[in-house]
Amino acid sequence: MGRLDGKVALITGVASGIGRAAAALFAAEGATVFGVDRNEVAGQSLAETLQAKGQSFHYFTADLSTEAACATAIDRCCATFGRLDILYNNAGISVIEPFTRTDADTLERIMAVNFKSVFYLCQQAIPRMQQQGGGAVINTASELAIVAQPLYAAYCASKGAVLSLTRALALEYAKDNIRINALCPGPIDTPMLQGEFDQAADPTQAKAEGIATMPIGRLGTPAEIAQVALFLASDAPALMHGAALVVDGGKTIL
Ligand code: NAD
Repeated sequence: MGRLDGKVALITGVASGIGRAAAALFAAEGATVFGVDRNEVAGQSLAETLQAKGQSFHYFTADLSTEAACATAIDRCCATFGRLDILYNNAGISVIEPFTRTDADTLERIMAVNFKSVFYLCQQAIPRMQQQGGGAVINTASELAIVAQPLYAAYCASKGAVLSLTRALALEYAKDNIRINALCPGPIDTPMLQGEFDQAADPTQAKAEGIATMPIGRLGTPAEIAQVALFLASDAPALMHGAALVVDGGKTIL
């Protein structure tokens, strides 16, 4: 018996990092996974890998930075599988630069991907979950929705918005048996984080400094975040509504 047997899960950002690990884990736990990403090649490659194992995974290419694309993704998932039990909003981007250099286009892009896509995907998914009698939504915030870091102002703001939205929606839809929670990862060893290290003058030193912020002495892994997402997606945390689940190897309590 898988922990997600019979459930349909839409996961965004499945082509890389945490989303890729979550798609594999959710499918292995019995879910029918509708994976969405803008990276067609990597998304199709994941589909081939999971389908070769006999798992139920359907890949859909979309840039989720517009309301129309978000609506289409939810429509396609529901048209393909007839329902939607789990929405895992994971797709995201990061921007590292001094606050005064962040221009309007960059701000719009990071808010569109990290926050507005979550807003619109929830807006499209929740009425369907209401009709079905319930569901689970996992919104990816970050430790940086809770603590701050220089050069991450726009990213912090976008993730703070995700956390506030999550709490507001959790209250509004608790009565409909829809559990809406935020997952707040710390530094996780993914292409996104490696890309951030690579922007430093000395990427090796930047990575070592990142690891030094971790009480566990290492970065987290995508699989470790996927396990917590699985818990939130399963029926186990029946009492969890509007939580900000920090998964960071103890970094934010240091
Ligand atoms: P990643 O870059 O490895 O993967 C992100 C995926 O999202 C990619 O496949 C990318 O193509 C996809 N994506 C980006 N923009 C998209 C768009 N407009 N439409 C569709 N897909 C899009 O990153 P990751 O580290 O796995 O991050 C996953 C999530 O976790 C993000 O929301 C990120 O902000 C969050 N997070 C990551 C860390 C970390 O240290 N890695 C820490 C805290 C939070």
